[in-house]
Amino acid sequence: MGYGLGIFERQRFLRLLHGQLRNKEKIHLKKRVMTIIDGQDSMLVKCADGSSYTGHIVVGTDGIHSRVRTEMQCLAPPDLVLKDKTSITAEYVSFFGTSKAIPGLKEGEGHTVFDLDHSSLLFVGSGHIPQWFFVTKLDKKYYGDEIPRFTREDMEKKALEYEDFQFCEGVTMSQLMSTTTQLSYVALEEANHEVWTHRRIVCLGDSIHKMTPNYGQGGNQAIEGAAVLTNCLRKMLDTGNGDVSLEKIEKTLLKYQRLRGKRAESFVKMSGIITRDEALATLKHTLRFLYFPLPSSEWMAGKSRTWLSKRSTLTGADFQTKMYSTAPVLDHLPIPPRLTAYKSWRTKPMKPEAAKPPRAQWVIPFL
Ligand SMILES: Cc1cc2nc3c(=O)[nH]c(=O)nc-3n(C[C@H](O)[C@H](O)[C@H](O)COP(=O)(O)OP(=O)(O)OC[C@H]3O[C@@H](n4cnc5c(N)ncnc54)[C@H](O)[C@@H]3O)c2cc1C
Repeated sequence: MGYGLGIFERQRFLRLLHGQLRNKEKIHLKKRVMTIIDGQDSMLVKCADGSSYTGHIVVGTDGIHSRVRTEMQCLAPPDLVLKDKTSITAEYVSFFGTSKAIPGLKEGEGHTVFDLDHSSLLFVGSGHIPQWFFVTKLDKKYYGDEIPRFTREDMEKKALEYEDFQFCEGVTMSQLMSTTTQLSYVALEEANHEVWTHRRIVCLGDSIHKMTPNYGQGGNQAIEGAAVLTNCLRKMLDTGNGDVSLEKIEKTLLKYQRLRGKRAESFVKMSGIITRDEALATLKHTLRFLYFPLPSSEWMAGKSRTWLSKRSTLTGADFQTKMYSTAPVLDHLPIPPRLTAYKSWRTKPMKPEAAKPPRAQWVIPFL
């Protein structure tokens, strides 16, 4: 598609996005949303520092522990959100680290290791900086509020348990841990909420569909959600003669969920399968991983052999291409020539039903 593969630090990415904003004064930092009050014609958001803001809609992009989602659930009929209130689970935990350059590791290299109940991924970014993940199984599956938050001691204890684990030949956990410049150790929550919007509140990203990171799609899905919501809101404003009535807003926000729901759900499911396949979670996962690997694993491993040759001629690269070329685009902007120059990129808008990632339907029966 005309773009190379790049590994990006989140802070750098946010700085680049922020640099592009024309109206930076609209961004208010260090605001913690505490409560949302539903007025007749607007919403009032109250923050921890005592400030408050009103608007026609509230968009919750506040991650897995979303306050906006919680407030929305309080305002919605209890029956409607009963299932969502307990739908967040966690079965795996991950180290996510950046360490100092290690002699011998070359820029652009990627290494994966798959083993019983754990898997690892190490990328060598620019400046030979290794970025690494180590995913391991928790002692049990946790639900909702019982999902643990880990301390530094928990992390160090786990790292010690795997100190000799090799991410690639000669690069051990203890070596990476002793030279980290950034490190976190977090439970990998999974969730696919049914109710994304109520009245003038809408959620997007991790707040509403949270996936494990092995597939590297959580952030992409959040960005896709932002694009679809933007399209829906623009259409509402363009066609409504300034009508921002509750009825019009509710219709628009439900349309956003309808356009996004299936695709987001597929990614949550597929990410969960990949995490379990790579950690050889059960015999079923192990067999699939050994004999019918999902293309992402092949792609990660740098292979290009035909995936499931009897069923399709989709290679790992084809799969990734299809996955991205079925993504939504901002309707009001032209598609970059870099993309349209490639045959793989569509030039016509896609029907929402067709925007599911490829082959997800085939994968799901194996759950
Ligand atoms: C280890 C790891 C690796 C990953 N790798 C990839 C990858 O390679 N590619 C990819 O696409 N995705 C990846 N992801 C997933 C990606 O990071 C998330 O899906 C993405 O950040 C979700 O974006 P979000 O805006 O929905 O939520 P977040 O990024 O969690 O942002 C939520 C924001 O809301 C703020 N907030 C929270 N509560 C409040 C409140 N009450 N008031 C105001 N603000 C609040 C938080 O401070 C935060 O800034 C990875 C995730 C993990 C854990």
